[in-house]
Amino acid sequence: MHEWALAESVIKTLKNQKKRVSKAEVIFGKLQDIDREIFSFAIEELLKQEKDFRPVIKICEEEAVFECISCGMEFDLKKGLEDAGEKENVHFLPEMVKVFIKCPGCGSRDFEIKKGRGLSIRIKEK
Ligand SMILES: [Zn+2]
Repeated sequence: MHEWALAESVIKTLKNQKKRVSKAEVIFGKLQDIDREIFSFAIEELLKQEKDFRPVIKICEEEAVFECISCGMEFDLKKGLEDAGEKENVHFLPEMVKVFIKCPGCGSRDFEIKKGRGLSIRIKEK
């Protein structure tokens, strides 16, 4: 249940901004092992406990992007999975990604994860 811990740290981060936060976007990388429903429920519940802190929090997803170290090709999750004959609905941990994906250009499993593994917060101040 690390969704609750993450939600708590997101709220904390927002509250610790110098200026009051009115809107924020929480962006999950597609490779993050997070249940978005649980996460947004946790955010809602935590905000209910706040007296005058009610930012609008939007949850978005960032596509994963990989770059092949052998041939330099950039590719997304769908393409990498297709080429390796896997289905897109495989639920991954970032550490597992090399088991399922290979470069559509040269077939190498030697690639970097450029995008899609982190969690970021985009803040809009009032
Ligand atoms: Zn390649």
